[in-house]
Amino acid sequence: MWLGLDDTDSLEGGCTTLVFHELLNSLPCEHGEPRLTRLWPFAAQRTRGNASLSVELFTDDSIVEWLDNYWNQNILPLKGKISDSSHSLRKQYPSDPGMVLFKEQPSEDYYWRAVRSEVSFYEGGKQWGGNGRIGAAASCAWRSGNVTWEGIAWRKDTRQVSEEALANVEAMNGTFLCRDPRTNRGLIAPRGPCPVMFGVRAIDRDTAKKATEILIQKSAETIGSRIFATNQATGDHIDSPQKLVVESKEMLQGGHVILNNNCLAFNESGDVNRIAQWLEIGDEIEFMGLEYEGNYHLEAIKVISSTIAQRPICECGTRMKSMGKGQGVRCPKCKKRSDKKWTMEERLPPLQGWVQPPADKRRHLAKSLT
Ligand SMILES: [Zn+2]
Repeated sequence: MWLGLDDTDSLEGGCTTLVFHELLNSLPCEHGEPRLTRLWPFAAQRTRGNASLSVELFTDDSIVEWLDNYWNQNILPLKGKISDSSHSLRKQYPSDPGMVLFKEQPSEDYYWRAVRSEVSFYEGGKQWGGNGRIGAAASCAWRSGNVTWEGIAWRKDTRQVSEEALANVEAMNGTFLCRDPRTNRGLIAPRGPCPVMFGVRAIDRDTAKKATEILIQKSAETIGSRIFATNQATGDHIDSPQKLVVESKEMLQGGHVILNNNCLAFNESGDVNRIAQWLEIGDEIEFMGLEYEGNYHLEAIKVISSTIAQRPICECGTRMKSMGKGQGVRCPKCKKRSDKKWTMEERLPPLQGWVQPPADKRRHLAKSLT
């Protein structure tokens, strides 16, 4: 059977990961690997990190009654709490927890739709609660073929992660996004009232486990920890890169750039915005972005070709100059003339290959392209 849970975040320090952790600790049956899935970032009424959780249960129908009780006593009371929005101007919705239980894993198609678009409820199984049922079912539907890992620990009181342990963990093979390379700021500890002490990411389970142990040893007191299989950094939210030739470029207030009237490179996207600013009409790029209300929000960009018309270079190595309107060009050094007034030369972008926003501005789902 498959159990899913979503949308129990609340201002009073609720967090779906901890609620799920406690549920797993209480379960009267064996279970598989817990899974944390991030879904379509634009989904209406999503929770802040848009994380949903699921796990396979090895049990029979008797679990329904147990879950019924657990739901009523431990999860239902979380309904209606407003989640923290200290660094988001986005409208916040009261939490609307949802729990689902399916005999068979929901169809994989539902996961793909939920990670790339807005979806409605998945029919079937036994379901508790409200909107959270959508993310909960989508998490159950995830096949985890493409997977990364996160070790999460929850704090007892203060949040304090040892700098020394962070450095050790960062140096391990297989961890990623531990620290922002530009600012040197650690990325594993959230801010705000959420009960998470840290979440450390890794490409394999063993590394996530080892890193979690190292961090727990040297940090403030924790009340528990768990390793999750996740779809973070898999790029699942974007189907494939697209190409475009720049036909228009507009600078918006706040430093944002809009290409071809529908490709947005936000100021916060750092190097992506820098490349967008550098582009000229006629340049060809490849990009990855999420489409929302007719616009693509760029989260990766690569210059394919950029050319600029220049005066030709003379055989002697000097750049020729125009002799005046309709007069052709001439070398200022050896005076040789040419009828060819322009040559197309390649412009080299300030950053080559795939360029992404800074580590702390990337989506949880974004795959590292470098
Ligand atoms: Zn010359």
